[in-house]
Amino acid sequence: MSTVKRREFLTSSALALLSVTTRGYAAHSTLREPQGRPKQRRGSTGSGQAAEPASGEPIIDIHQHLGYSGRPDDVLLAHQRAIGATRTILLPAGRRATGPSTHDGLANGLQAEALGNEACYQFVQARRQAFLFGANDVPDLDGATREIERYLKRGAVVIAEQKFGVECDSPEMQKIYALARAYDVPVLMHWQFKMYNYGFERFHKMLEKFPGVKFLGHAQTWWANIDRNHTDQTVLYPKGPVTPGGLTDRYLSDYPNMYGDLSAGSGLNALTRDEDFTHDFLTRHRNKLLFGSDCNDRDGGGPNCIGAQTIAAIRRLAANREIERKLLYENAERLFRL
Ligand SMILES: [Zn+2]
Ligand SMILES: [Zn+2]
Repeated sequence: MSTVKRREFLTSSALALLSVTTRGYAAHSTLREPQGRPKQRRGSTGSGQAAEPASGEPIIDIHQHLGYSGRPDDVLLAHQRAIGATRTILLPAGRRATGPSTHDGLANGLQAEALGNEACYQFVQARRQAFLFGANDVPDLDGATREIERYLKRGAVVIAEQKFGVECDSPEMQKIYALARAYDVPVLMHWQFKMYNYGFERFHKMLEKFPGVKFLGHAQTWWANIDRNHTDQTVLYPKGPVTPGGLTDRYLSDYPNMYGDLSAGSGLNALTRDEDFTHDFLTRHRNKLLFGSDCNDRDGGGPNCIGAQTIAAIRRLAANREIERKLLYENAERLFRL
């Protein structure tokens, strides 16, 4: 950890500690209401300072985007404050490209108008206590690893979001895994059947070949496969009871380097479709699951805000506060070495 990073970390820890000790646990318990929405606090992230935790507790959001669906920066800042995220990792798009791996350009901007490496890097420079950034590129573009490495050298904490039409064990992807190993950063992958990252059933080979690389699974195919009875891979948001032992459940159990990103509608669907299952799932994988929002709304609460609902679901369904804190904060702090 650099001196600058350490100083920032100590400052934000001290703030968090102060906040917890002055407001205490009572303040937190009122926020356990399902509809509970942290009060907005003025003048925190916008000024570039670490956001003061609205609930008295820090939350790391590992999955957000800059320019998401055209959302302005000030709205993103207010959104993150409203959901109670004290630190946020911005995941850039790759360079724009037209070819099979971007489905002829459809996947540019991560199919969400998300901005790229330079924009995320610049945004974070003025807000370094509250925001971090990833590094990314289209894996089969010429110079992809060089482009990613340029931002790893500048302090990117993850290679993400990898959301391209490529085989998960292709030579291009393996170069990215090797780069992640060299820089000791996780790789976050969007798994979507026949669309992004092909070959989910073969991914164990990569987990075995790159045991030192931490992989974060995300999106529809990742979350649908918590269920052992998920056979129709074209169903992206399955509902109803879950039988433990699906491929995702096994990857998390069997491979110490496999982690799960709880973000997006797919993550929220997985948490809420069978709450009895979820209770045990969160306990079993309590050291492996990390909160992310990945929502593009401008509200920061209410029915459109997946992030706020995911935080509420974690608070409702985690077996105890220790597990809740791991999912909302501690696992990310450890994985991203914050
Ligand atoms: Zn995604
Ligand atoms: Zn939201």
